[in-house]
Amino acid sequence: MFVLPLSATELLDAASICRGSGVPDKGIYLATLGMTEQSFEACAALPIGTRDASILALRQAMFGDRIELSATCPQCAARLDVATTATALLAIERATDSPSCDVTIDGRRFDVRPINSIDLAAIGQIPDAEEARIELARRCLVPPEGEEPPILLEAADVDAIGAVIARIDPAGDPYAMLRCAECACEWDAPIDIANVLAREIEGAAEALLDEIHLLAQAYHWSEGAILALGQDRRRAYLARLQQ
Ligand SMILES: [Zn+2]
Repeated sequence: MFVLPLSATELLDAASICRGSGVPDKGIYLATLGMTEQSFEACAALPIGTRDASILALRQAMFGDRIELSATCPQCAARLDVATTATALLAIERATDSPSCDVTIDGRRFDVRPINSIDLAAIGQIPDAEEARIELARRCLVPPEGEEPPILLEAADVDAIGAVIARIDPAGDPYAMLRCAECACEWDAPIDIANVLAREIEGAAEALLDEIHLLAQAYHWSEGAILALGQDRRRAYLARLQQ
């Protein structure tokens, strides 16, 4: 996937939209920036792994391959710095257009489809984590034509559906295997690439606004004129202001 980095104007717009968006709208929006031919609605219906591949490609184009993350040890609360790469995350297998995998519940066979952003938005309204997990599993069950999904799911059914989802879209829930140097605790930390890129875009937009502010104050140029200069010329004028 070839993705161009955002221009300075697009970066400022993207930062405003990210700040004003909740999960998962932020992720859908960032995916549309990498897949300009896809509508917001089309991106919302993509398997999460496919959506996040677009976000990773944009992340790579804008900020490079290396991704720095920090985590907190669940046992002793020590802070850990972790690094991964967009290349490594993009290498995780993604769901195909029509992944076919099934589970058997009460003797009935159901297809299972990958999770998409519409599912995440729907379960985001459910305060109880276990109930949300059950609802997510129920949503991903595809009953045979003309049949209804089961009303009640046993814990074992939810686990079985979760295992199929992890198999058909492993890139939908990437994680880093971490080991705490302080207490030797080992755990899998989820990697939320949409959140990572949103934070970086917001940080880069803040830095750009600082540059615009200083140049506007010194030279009385408009925001549009300062953005049109390009990064090298902005930096050259800023360096002169500091002489
Ligand atoms: Zn620890």
